[in-house]
Amino acid sequence: MNHVTHLKCLICGKTYLPEEIAYVCPDHGYEGILDVVYDYNAIAAAISLESLNNHRDFTIWRYKPLLPVAVDATVPPLAVGWTPLYETPRLAAGLGLRHLWVKDDGRNPTASFKDRASAIAVVKGRERGAEILTTASTGNAAAALAGLCASVGQANVIFVPAAAPPAKIAQLLAYGSTVLLVDGAYDDAFDLCLQAADAFGWYNRNTGFNPYMTEGKKTVSFEICEQLGWQAPDAIFVSVGDGCIIGGVHKGLRDLLALGWIDHMPRIIGVQAAGSNFLAEAWAKGEDVLSKAPIHARTLADSISAGLPRDRIKAMAAVTETHGAYVTVSDEEILAAIPALARGCGVFAEPAGAASYAGLVKAVAQGLVGRDDRIVVINTGNGLKDVAGAMKSVQIVATHPHHVAPNLTAVKGVLGGWLVG
Ligand SMILES: *Cc1c(COP(=O)(O)O)cnc(C)c1O
Ligand SMILES: [Zn+2]
Repeated sequence: MNHVTHLKCLICGKTYLPEEIAYVCPDHGYEGILDVVYDYNAIAAAISLESLNNHRDFTIWRYKPLLPVAVDATVPPLAVGWTPLYETPRLAAGLGLRHLWVKDDGRNPTASFKDRASAIAVVKGRERGAEILTTASTGNAAAALAGLCASVGQANVIFVPAAAPPAKIAQLLAYGSTVLLVDGAYDDAFDLCLQAADAFGWYNRNTGFNPYMTEGKKTVSFEICEQLGWQAPDAIFVSVGDGCIIGGVHKGLRDLLALGWIDHMPRIIGVQAAGSNFLAEAWAKGEDVLSKAPIHARTLADSISAGLPRDRIKAMAAVTETHGAYVTVSDEEILAAIPALARGCGVFAEPAGAASYAGLVKAVAQGLVGRDDRIVVINTGNGLKDVAGAMKSVQIVATHPHHVAPNLTAVKGVLGGWLVG
């Protein structure tokens, strides 16, 4: 038993019972993404601000009655969620702001935000009795599924475009996943994964296809608001590729408003790389995301590179319905944001994670946020995910190590000015 009443197609509004359908609206194919609809009265009877206060589980499962899983479902043991929300006064002051927090989702077990969705995928897949779980991904979603599966000994098959970075493939292999390197691009891997899941009865985690992934991702909004004492922030900055995370951020806030746990909807600001700006462009020009042609995506922030964002309907609604905005940042601005964030608050982000901070810098310059606004920036991935990106970022700010001979004279020669006595 859970508190889901039905699934609703975002295109035609048709509703389905959860047992009737596994992924998308049959009338609309891949595009027919479903929203998961709940009975908030039943949820309110099962969980309250008081019960949460006494709850000792500091993972996403503390919000179980708000998730599409049975109340007594066995969940994977890896501790997903309840990542730190750091108040960052030095970063704030540098931008002329007064209230700024960084939510560090690089602290999840496989080092990215994607664990929030994969944890749900493992529970849903097992609920359906699937022997194999599968996904197509170039990186973090695959690592997240691989890690969560490994924590419960669940077999899984990952479809990866052959050109994926070797370090990301290594993480999958270490977790024991069966890795299929597809001769082709991400879209080919995605399509092949769908065909295989269909043909062999596997459970599919693919983003912007499996309706429950948004539900895992929404837990970040629950945590942010709880960590702020249920005083919702004024604006939340999040980087956007396929658009599933930003849709999840929005869904979580809608849940909280429906329950009366927060009193206003924060503005959601989506940040895209200039070279992968499908949603930002559609938003600026008022284009329809379903008829807009795919773009050729090119950015070094590989986790937000998406020519045709799979979850574009939810991603657009997150911004328009909250009176937010899309901003774009260049690869140089993204790289510069890595050391800026690391130095300003000690959070080390991969390029796609730092992009949200680069977006805040831009939004301040454009007057999109006010000095007194309470602002949260989400870091979606750990800096160690992309060491090459980190190396480039420190070159941009012209910091480099100093070579010294192994003696104190050499150290003095380099550091001379700083040393006293
Ligand atoms: C997947 C990912 C994103 C973007 O999420 P979408 O749901 O594709 O918009 C951003 N940052 C990191 C680190 C990611 O892994
Ligand atoms: Zn439909």
